[in-house]
Amino acid sequence: MDKFLEQFDPEIFDAIQREIDRQEYKLEMIASENFVSKAVLEALGSVMTNKYAEGYPHKRYYGGCDYVDQAEDLAIQRAKKLFGAAHANVQPHSGSQANMAVYLSCLKPGDTIMGQNLSEGGHLTHGSPVNFSGKFFKVVAYGLNPETGTLDYDQIRDLAREHRPPLIVCGASAYPRKIDFKIFRDIADEVGARVMADIAHPAGLVATGLHPDPIPYCEYVTTTTHKTLRGPRGGMIFCRSEYAKDVDKIIFPGIQGGPLMHVIAAKAVSFKEALDPSFKDYCAQIIKNAQALADEFLKAGFSLVSGGTDNHLILVDLTSRGISGKEAEEALGRAGMTVNKNTVPRESRSPFVTSGIRVGTPALTTRGMKEPEIRLIAGWMIDVLNHPQDEKKCVAIKKNVEELCRKFPLYR
Ligand SMILES: *Cc1c(COP(=O)(O)O)cnc(C)c1O
Repeated sequence: MDKFLEQFDPEIFDAIQREIDRQEYKLEMIASENFVSKAVLEALGSVMTNKYAEGYPHKRYYGGCDYVDQAEDLAIQRAKKLFGAAHANVQPHSGSQANMAVYLSCLKPGDTIMGQNLSEGGHLTHGSPVNFSGKFFKVVAYGLNPETGTLDYDQIRDLAREHRPPLIVCGASAYPRKIDFKIFRDIADEVGARVMADIAHPAGLVATGLHPDPIPYCEYVTTTTHKTLRGPRGGMIFCRSEYAKDVDKIIFPGIQGGPLMHVIAAKAVSFKEALDPSFKDYCAQIIKNAQALADEFLKAGFSLVSGGTDNHLILVDLTSRGISGKEAEEALGRAGMTVNKNTVPRESRSPFVTSGIRVGTPALTTRGMKEPEIRLIAGWMIDVLNHPQDEKKCVAIKKNVEELCRKFPLYR
């Protein structure tokens, strides 16, 4: 295919080539990113993008849907098997749309939702004032215990008793610990609420039994397919059978039109990969790598939110290190290592500056890197963070990064 693009549109071809090189020769440590397989890429680039298929398999508004039905049936069947769910909707274009669909399926505008504060690890769609979730619904935000840096379940129970929300949302984008879905269930039962678990980040770990399973405890489970689950960019919803009709009706015709059939085909491919026993080894290695990373940062005297990790990411609190999250992100970037700045509990800086960085291991683990490589990389990161102004150091480390990347080829 590449030669058609190269001839017809050399500018876009060039952008893609440069992006391939960026992914190939830099160390990707953004916790929400991963690298899909060539099989997933092939499905994504397929002719299924041409097909309109409004509706659901075998109940479409267009003719010619036999083969996209075949693909969506497989995606649904594999998703249900992977997560042990009663119902799966694989059509959400993104994690945000999956969450929007659940809210609109069970709430009226002005109802109250409870969700984890964005500045303490939550997601925009869990009630941030700049997001639809914060504009259409009343929001009660919960957060972390400032002493332990872990979820404050006592505070969550108190807030639920006080505000009696019809929906409690759990799940996070920047939280290095396991989430106890059973406690959320108990709290919700006490106040008559439903629970939505958004497992966008740890979905791969959940699917392989390496993170607690929300399915038995939550009416709704939403996820992205492109983070630890390592599929194409997109969303997905699981729910109990009695809510299936309402959820499906909100996704289509409620908030989406035609499903992205090439993405759904690629989701099916990634679920097949995730059902293979080797995927559990991959997810276990993600966690081992994150723990090796945590270990090196702690040994070097850095402070980590919650003191460590039991999932795929760490949150480094730079408050006492004389460097902001923004400066850290930029310095590491100059040394060939990609992370993102992140707020930390009791944040004193703006969200554009922050006092922390979030560092994840899913993408490096996909390349085949294990603890020895992670410890080496942690050493480079620490060196940069201790001397962020030292340009010579950054250039030297960038060379080491490229050399390491060549030993763990990705797409080239
Ligand atoms: C990434 C993420 C989402 C949103 O996913 P998009 O596909 O970017 O819309 C939703 N919830 C959580 C917790 C996330 O981390």
